[in-house]
Amino acid sequence: MTSTDTVTQCATCGVEHAEPLPQVCAICADERQYVPAGGQRWTRPEESASRGASIEFTEREVDVINLVHRNCPGIGQKPALIRTDHGNVLVEVPNHINDEAVAAVRGWGGISAIIASHPHMYGVQSLWSAAFDDAPVYVSAPDEQCLGLRPRNTVVWGGGHGGAEIELVPGVRASQPGGHFPGSAVVHWTAPDGRGVLFTGDTIGSVADPGWVTFMRSFPNWMPLSGAVVRRIAEHVSRYDFDRIYSNFGGCVPHGARAAVQRSADRYAKWVDGEYDHLT
Ligand SMILES: [Zn+2]
Repeated sequence: MTSTDTVTQCATCGVEHAEPLPQVCAICADERQYVPAGGQRWTRPEESASRGASIEFTEREVDVINLVHRNCPGIGQKPALIRTDHGNVLVEVPNHINDEAVAAVRGWGGISAIIASHPHMYGVQSLWSAAFDDAPVYVSAPDEQCLGLRPRNTVVWGGGHGGAEIELVPGVRASQPGGHFPGSAVVHWTAPDGRGVLFTGDTIGSVADPGWVTFMRSFPNWMPLSGAVVRRIAEHVSRYDFDRIYSNFGGCVPHGARAAVQRSADRYAKWVDGEYDHLT
């Protein structure tokens, strides 16, 4: 059974908090998000349950399962369970949990490590960790202060801005290009087809054209990053061999993603650096 009696959630972003609650959710009050016009509200997993909250599972590709929560607060993430012979990794965290979902994930081999790419994606990570024998929850050091609730088995890692890299389970690595948040992380895994896959959260966002990507300080408020930071992100992820990208909201670059990142970073940096101002 999963205990939900110690968790309060922001009713907008869905991120878990402990008592005493702040006046306003720090994640939503930040310039990257927003507090809704009606003001701050809080909720609890059992309220979501009473409204019929559920988690749906879809196979994204062999050994990648998306967990999509329904009827609960949140900003639309599509967490992914990466399955490996050495343990499974949950990348991004649903804002809900129930016994059916736990049983389903157990059937796929459980969870050995949990990592949110950045604080908007913390979800109810303490509850997911507790349901899987206190699986370690990896939190980027520069963003640690964003935790509204500290999971029992929190592993603080890295210094952001491209410094650190860790192995979550053998064959699944994470590093911190930064950008969207100072500690924004990406996760790299080599799929059974031998091709690399990069889970980019909001560090690298997919766009309508699958040959391109973008980079933002804030997606809801359309705030850009500088050309220097975008070039740094592209340089950082060039260490990895990857063909596909899965970004935060179910977006995907299905082929040639490594080249798409480099091409897109170059275009973006030229725009924000003023090279094309004559076109505006
Ligand atoms: Zn919030």
